[in-house]
Amino acid sequence: MRRTLYLKLILAYIIFGIFGFIMVSTFASSMTLEHLIREQAEKMYEEATLIANTYATDLYNNQTSLDAVQKQLDALDTYMDATIWIMNPSGRLILDSSTILDINEEKIVENFDPTITLGSYYTTGDFFGYFKEDMLSVYAPITTDFSIKGYVVIHSSMKDLKASKESLLSISYLLLILLFLLSLIILLFFTEFVYVPIKRITEATEHYATGDMNYDLSIDSDDELGYLGGALSYMAHKVATAEEDQKKFIANVSHDFRSPLTSIKGYLEAMIDGTIPEEMHEKYLKVVLNETERLTKLTNGLLTLNNLNMTGMVLEKSIFDINQVIKSVVESFEGTLFKKKISVDLVLTGERLSVEADMSKIQQVLYNLMDNAIKFSYDDSTIKIETTQKHNKVFVSVKDSGIGIPKESLKLIWDRFYKTDLSRGKDKKGTGLGLAITKEIIRAHKENINVISTEGVGTEFIFSLPVYDDDDDDDLA
Ligand code: ATP
Ligand code: MG
Repeated sequence: MRRTLYLKLILAYIIFGIFGFIMVSTFASSMTLEHLIREQAEKMYEEATLIANTYATDLYNNQTSLDAVQKQLDALDTYMDATIWIMNPSGRLILDSSTILDINEEKIVENFDPTITLGSYYTTGDFFGYFKEDMLSVYAPITTDFSIKGYVVIHSSMKDLKASKESLLSISYLLLILLFLLSLIILLFFTEFVYVPIKRITEATEHYATGDMNYDLSIDSDDELGYLGGALSYMAHKVATAEEDQKKFIANVSHDFRSPLTSIKGYLEAMIDGTIPEEMHEKYLKVVLNETERLTKLTNGLLTLNNLNMTGMVLEKSIFDINQVIKSVVESFEGTLFKKKISVDLVLTGERLSVEADMSKIQQVLYNLMDNAIKFSYDDSTIKIETTQKHNKVFVSVKDSGIGIPKESLKLIWDRFYKTDLSRGKDKKGTGLGLAITKEIIRAHKENINVISTEGVGTEFIFSLPVYDDDDDDDLA
């Protein structure tokens, strides 16, 4: 592709040159000659008319002698570099400026026909076969008493005209060559601003196609090609990071599955070969059970995420009271709350706060946030859950005074499998999928979730939901 584009341009350039040459050598050549002939003919015709009206008329009226006229015309002949004739309508020469006519030897132009020029006053050629070379001939009638007595004919050789045409044409050729060279600038521009960038883009796409996504494609220009280059390298970067993410994801999944499996295997083997005595079996079977629970949780989390990620997550939206849902989620944590002696402070707006959303998914969000808040809270602390309404949004906040999230981790907690170092010691069962699922659900609702946290002080998660206005319903009813 690359080479043909350049070849095509060069071909176009050569065709441009050839056509230019053909135009100059044909059209320009004939036009120049035509122009020169007309110009010369005009001058000669003026002279011919002048002679016809003066010397020639005098001659026919016998007011002057042939000799005297001959002398005058001789002088003019040299001056004009032309041959001047005076001839009868029949074609017989009366006077020839180039030679003195012998009276005994008549010079006659056979087939002389003054109408041959069809209205124009000049003709080119051998003048009715009289000359051997091409001549430009002009004639003016000599009239006395309203009748044509004869003609003044002036011939000049076409050789000179052709020579001047050639010299004029050589100027045209020179200009053509100059133009051709100047148009090289276009070729240079094309090379620099189109060809080179396209070549680089093509090279880059070849690299991308073979998987080298980090190939550096930078086009230093702000035109369309620069934009295309930028878009391409951005795309490559995206593909590269997506690939990286995929690899990380698989590494994480494998790791998270391997550790519980290894410990299950270890305990079971130790029980079978007797390393763990039978009386201890119950204790270790509980550990094994714990680990299998973790595996189940992990698998479920992955399945949920996968379902959420599929394009066009189906939300089963309904209108429900968010305050009520919060209360029931808190109730489901009663046992754990009691164990850690954590109290929950509910600050709920209104008796009912209707929202329109997918209830079971919002339940899951609240469950994940509550689960985290409890996991990362100290014993004997309080978790505050608050609902507020602003315009057509409901904001739900879950706030704990637990271990908090380090600043540098704040952006990462939404990633799949991410767990802060702080939390690892406190929560061995966590998969790091909870917040990723939460974020996906909120995003599917086209709402937002944010986190505010200070390490060692506490954490607050706030998400929004669309209000469903009950009053509207009443109005309708
Ligand atoms: P899972 O939710 O699957 O049990 P998890 O709780 O570790 O695992 P996420 O809910 O995604 O995973 O949370 C990711 C990480 O963010 C947690 O491991 C923890 O480090 C941090 N985090 C989340 N919520 C809090 C919180 N309320 N206080 C402190 N750290 C938190
Ligand atoms: Mg969690």
